[in-house]
Amino acid sequence: MSEKFIPLSVPSIKGNAETYIKECLETNFVSSVGPFVTRFEEEFAQKVNTKHAIACASGTAAIHVALQLAGVSRGDDVFVSDFTFIATVNPIIYLNANPILIDASEETWNISHDLVREELKKRLKTNKRLPKAILIAHVLGIPAPAEPFAKLSKKYNIPIIEDAAESLGAYYLNGLYTNRQVGTTGLFGCYSFNGNKIITTGGGGMIVSSDKELANRARHLTTQAKLPGSEYNHDEIGYNYRLSNVAAALGVSQLELLDTFLKKKKEIAKRYDEAFAGLAGITLSPRPSYAETSQWLYTVLIDSSKTGINRQDVQTILAEKGIQSRPIWVPIHSQKPYRDTVCIRGEVSEKLLRQGLSLPCSVILTNAEQNYVIDEFIKAVTSY
Ligand SMILES: *Cc1c(COP(=O)(O)O)cnc(C)c1O
Repeated sequence: MSEKFIPLSVPSIKGNAETYIKECLETNFVSSVGPFVTRFEEEFAQKVNTKHAIACASGTAAIHVALQLAGVSRGDDVFVSDFTFIATVNPIIYLNANPILIDASEETWNISHDLVREELKKRLKTNKRLPKAILIAHVLGIPAPAEPFAKLSKKYNIPIIEDAAESLGAYYLNGLYTNRQVGTTGLFGCYSFNGNKIITTGGGGMIVSSDKELANRARHLTTQAKLPGSEYNHDEIGYNYRLSNVAAALGVSQLELLDTFLKKKKEIAKRYDEAFAGLAGITLSPRPSYAETSQWLYTVLIDSSKTGINRQDVQTILAEKGIQSRPIWVPIHSQKPYRDTVCIRGEVSEKLLRQGLSLPCSVILTNAEQNYVIDEFIKAVTSY
């Protein structure tokens, strides 16, 4: 083992983090009642240019509440990405609804619009019930196309919920949604501030919506559905899903750094892209022409029939050099709890698992460290 260790992706806590958190401690506002929660929500809504934001305990909680408010309940079908982190899909099960897993598109790695459209058509023709919602995960910072999905949503009257956990800062470049941030074109957008995301609150999430009524309902549900007033009156079953003031204080400080982080992520991606362009058997991640990606986790595909070495062996070789890398997700349809779940195709997500490898891309990565990763990666994929 080398002495050197370059982690895949670690947070950078600097800026006003300490000042703001100290303020929480000094004022005794540590729980979800506190000025930083509201401030984080307001500043976040402003940043992604939407009307309402509700800070949650996690991205998973955000998705859970968004699905519920979209009307998803027991027995309903929800179309959802097969190629994503499992937290996209689990909340469907929390609501006793049925995920219908849909394969990724080769072009964007996100849920395939063609497959969604075909399945909707087929269902309409055979009188099979339509899904209650379409839950789109924008994976790895790559936006799924907003306009085509919005058209389907309108045509079939099915709400879109966006899991933008990995894609804060990505936005659309043309069409109806020009300059609109990922997560703000559906009925709800959900973000995550887990430790490995673009900004972090330690753990946390956000629901955004442009609908005031829905936003109020989301706030109500995430705070135990407690009615205003000093008495303990609750009008429905809510959740303890609010973010704490301490976490929100960290969030406010991280939001101030978001632009710097995004810029650094892009620089890292650009340097890797330039170094790897033209390498036989290496495919760079999609950069759809309609959007600016947020480059959350830098990922490439390794085609072993051309490189002579598979993704797993590259990972091992890099680990020996002190470089942490990681395969992307085992598709949901292959996860133990979802083996009996309906999946429309699944070959693309399997290929992404077989070939995909994420490389170090922390915002604190230095050029020297990145050059070292680049050299070792190129050596690994060209020496067979
Ligand atoms: C991280 C993540 C989540 C869940 O967010 P948490 O804050 O960890 O609960 C959901 N979906 C995707 C795609 C994620 O990457």
